[in-house]
Amino acid sequence: MDLYEYQGKQLFARFGIPVSEGRLATTPEEARAAAEELGGQVVVKAQVLTGGRGKAGGIQLADSPDNAEARARDILGMDIRGHVVRSVWIEKASDIEREYYLSVTFDRGEKKPLFMFTTKGGVDIEEVAETDPDALARLHIDPLAGFQPFQARWLVFTAGLEDPDEQKQVLAIVAKLYEAFVASDAMLCEINPLVVTPAGEVKALDSKFTVDDNALYRHTDIAEMRDPEAGDPQERLAREKGVTYVKLDGEIGILGNGAGLVMSTLDVIDQVGGRPANFCDLGGGGDAEGVVDALEVITADAQVEAILFNIFGGITRGDEVARGILEALERMSIDLPIVVRLDGTNAAEGRAMLAEAAPPNLYVEETMLSAAERVVELAKERR
Ligand code: GDP
Ligand code: MN
Repeated sequence: MDLYEYQGKQLFARFGIPVSEGRLATTPEEARAAAEELGGQVVVKAQVLTGGRGKAGGIQLADSPDNAEARARDILGMDIRGHVVRSVWIEKASDIEREYYLSVTFDRGEKKPLFMFTTKGGVDIEEVAETDPDALARLHIDPLAGFQPFQARWLVFTAGLEDPDEQKQVLAIVAKLYEAFVASDAMLCEINPLVVTPAGEVKALDSKFTVDDNALYRHTDIAEMRDPEAGDPQERLAREKGVTYVKLDGEIGILGNGAGLVMSTLDVIDQVGGRPANFCDLGGGGDAEGVVDALEVITADAQVEAILFNIFGGITRGDEVARGILEALERMSIDLPIVVRLDGTNAAEGRAMLAEAAPPNLYVEETMLSAAERVVELAKERR
């Protein structure tokens, strides 16, 4: 789960990482009131779950409450890379002497947290990694040994940070960021930019904070930060229904049981010239309720032109899945073509049930390849 900048900063503050004081506003009037309370120059920042807000015009300085109201009016409702701005964070403006970059994330290859630090912050970190890789200090942390203070010193020296007062502050922030990362079960904690003010104060001017969804059950306070309005509407529906769902950008909706089978179904669709619109993993189940939920999620995606069920019965029985599909189709009316490939335990019984009772838009295929070919063909016919 991705957090908004202001939520990430709340967590930063909880762990003692310095941030600026601010207020959240959802209307221009609230923005004005916030600017009045904070006093002086403020920065009005679009709160969206995507980066590059500055470049898109979603970050504006304002030197009066009037101005803050006007800037908030500009920014609220703005579309930033497909994300509509519904709130702004009004923060005391900082004077910036230098911009650094600091993050800790998971390196899945090494199976360890990875720190990255560079004094060339403020810009795209990918760009620094490409054009000036030596400027980017990278360090893995052994999760069992935990973070050691010398590691922060290594990062700071390797990145070439020389001012002792800055070093001291950055060392403390590195340690606290690791603490925040572990204690929150985060996948990513990023500060870009980590700024140095003319007075020599180091603080987090931005935050990117991603928490592992699988750990949210033990962080109810963070789970409550989820904005139900944010993100893809189908993904939201899927979450509400407890369906494993991933949105893609093609035209074939895919339902399978088990991640491995679903992954290979994506490959086979691609192989026969189609493109998956999304996929749902039914897991071990196949009961009517699960099938109805998954079909509801899949058909809510307007891009779907045809649906492919790919079921391999192990513990799941083919006849039960067939019953689930038929029951689901009785309960919901679906006009889209549906191709079903059933194999494994009781597959013959399942196929017979479908052949007998299925509506005309349901096609049964014996193999994964023929099912993929059929569904791609049916989707093309509808274009
Ligand atoms: P992003 O574009 O989504 O990464 O948003 P950031 O929060 O990182 O802001 C983008 C840029 O806006 C920063 O790199 C700063 O240069 C500038 N900025 C943000 N807050 C302030 C501020 O308080 N004062 C000043 N002078 N610039 C700011
Ligand atoms: Mn940033």
